[in-house]
Amino acid sequence: MSTETTVATAVDVSEWMRAIAAAVEEEAGHLTQLDSAIGDGDHGVNMTRGFRAVNEALAAQDGGQPPGKLLITAGKTLVSTVGGASGPLWGTALRRAGRAVGDAPRLDGAALAAGLEAALAGVVELGAAEAGDKTMVDALEPAVRALGERLEAGDELPAAVEAAAAAADEGARSTVPMQARKGRASYLGERSIGHQDPGATSTALILAALSRALIPGD
Ligand code: ADP
Ligand code: MG
Repeated sequence: MSTETTVATAVDVSEWMRAIAAAVEEEAGHLTQLDSAIGDGDHGVNMTRGFRAVNEALAAQDGGQPPGKLLITAGKTLVSTVGGASGPLWGTALRRAGRAVGDAPRLDGAALAAGLEAALAGVVELGAAEAGDKTMVDALEPAVRALGERLEAGDELPAAVEAAAAAADEGARSTVPMQARKGRASYLGERSIGHQDPGATSTALILAALSRALIPGD
């Protein structure tokens, strides 16, 4: 079978950002409720404001930008519009993802895997959180691992993305019994135990949104 003319399934970055904005807006109340329990109650507002601004920034750009450029614009927009920790963290994540994707014309499985690996590295570098610290890393790390493993095993992108979203969701739920060791929630010490981390929860929404932004190949 010739694969020379085959176009792989890929992620439409603008569509991904729209799907994230819709999801965080719909879940803003829940995210704020989670952040009220172990933080300052602004996570739903932060994420909604940030991703709305991302969509405005992308809509204002000329069409035809490659996915890497769109991700960099999205990341810069988050850094400049979100005051909370999640702004610089997701902003860095998306900028790093964009740089890793480079000039690739499509965000196919390999580009997405490289992008999300770089995103995770950027978050860890900036926030210094490790798995088990009760942060967004507890959702992002298993998602990146699942995506890479599934693609390596030969799965198509939609199945790999679904596995990544499931791993992120499981990772977010795994934060409930953890004691926070990074971010605002760490100030609570043992009182942070028993609550799901808001940033891990929104990270699961961001990964789930990928499946609504797939452009079929042929
Ligand atoms: P803030 O804590 O400044 O109010 P947000 O409420 O928007 O910011 O985001 C809080 C989330 O940010 C936390 O639930 C956690 O997942 C994430 N977070 C905070 N600090 C770190 C860190 N050092 N590394 C990774 N994630 C972090
Ligand atoms: Mg907060």
